[in-house]
Amino acid sequence: MTDARVNGGRLWASLMELAQIGATPKGGVKRLALTDLDRQGRDLVVGWGKQAGMSVTVDQIGNVFMRREGRNPSLAPVMTGSHIDTQPTGGKFDGNYGVLAGLEVVRTLNDLNIQTEAPIEVAFWTNEEGSRFVPVMMGSGVFCGAFSLETAYAAKDTEGLTVKDELARIGYLGEQVPGQHPIGAYFETHIEQGPVLEDADKVIGVVPAVMGLSWYDCVVTGMEAHAGPTPMGLRRDALQVSTKIMQEVVALANRYPPYGRGTVGMVQVFPNSRNVIPGEVKFSIDLRNVNDELLNTMHEEMLAYIDGVRKDSGLAISIERVSYYPPCPFHPDCVGAVRKATEALGYSTMDVVSGAGHDAIYAARPFPPTTDFAGNRASPAPQYRHHRPS
Ligand SMILES: [Zn+2]
Repeated sequence: MTDARVNGGRLWASLMELAQIGATPKGGVKRLALTDLDRQGRDLVVGWGKQAGMSVTVDQIGNVFMRREGRNPSLAPVMTGSHIDTQPTGGKFDGNYGVLAGLEVVRTLNDLNIQTEAPIEVAFWTNEEGSRFVPVMMGSGVFCGAFSLETAYAAKDTEGLTVKDELARIGYLGEQVPGQHPIGAYFETHIEQGPVLEDADKVIGVVPAVMGLSWYDCVVTGMEAHAGPTPMGLRRDALQVSTKIMQEVVALANRYPPYGRGTVGMVQVFPNSRNVIPGEVKFSIDLRNVNDELLNTMHEEMLAYIDGVRKDSGLAISIERVSYYPPCPFHPDCVGAVRKATEALGYSTMDVVSGAGHDAIYAARPFPPTTDFAGNRASPAPQYRHHRPS
């Protein structure tokens, strides 16, 4: 049983077949949530699940659960899954790998005639990407109660089409109440979306936790003026003041290694003319850490710094937190199972804290671990409050 190996060729073939639905000329995939292409992808995967002998249920937000019974029907299923929707310029593997890897496990168990104690379920969650409909991680978010079904149903795409109507149109408006589907344990296999594993020449990252994040919109308002006629001492240059804050965002993250992150990724300068002193600058700030206490410290230090800049410059600076979720440590038993399996199979491995959001964050929420992920400092027990953007 410990020698059981999946059929890599079969997994690869299924990945390539699914990637043909919405294939782009550059070799990627565009299969946005709840489009006709999403329906085709869903139908294909559900068909494969049924061929593998699994029963299929769909909940009211379109999450799909494919089930292989175990010996003991009273046990909650061991679930694995991810998403099969993609970004407009998505790839073949993001999300899809996690779903089809789970399917391949079931196919292998079938081949080897192995019966498990608990049932096994392979899930795919609706609209993980959040590209067509906001918020992201919608299906798993509704499932764990992070936001309501009504909120998700009312979300509209740029053409005004709603999630509820599109779910019904593609035939995936199910009956099961989200969250009323037991999960014994949840595992999500996912391609790494950063450079760490490749840099360290390792095959598998064991993920003890996902970073929490805070997103902000910052607006600095100065005074537009001519670049030549306005002496340096008489300027109210919104861009010069903004760059101080931008530098601090990076410095701040560097003060909290190894998991502090600080990014300014979006900047709009007005009027954006080479001979006009900028009168207004809008930019985004993205702060992350694996420890909620440290993330909050970074938040406070940034606000204090901005207060100082406001006083020194005399410019109006507004800062608004537009999104937040706390770090998510995973249950040590699940993390330990992954570590043990990868080592037993002889793969090179290292622990990698995930910096990107995944459905596993929400799937894990009903089962908070009793111990926190060991960050670089001692930390209090993780908090599972949900903070709505204000
Ligand atoms: Zn993904």
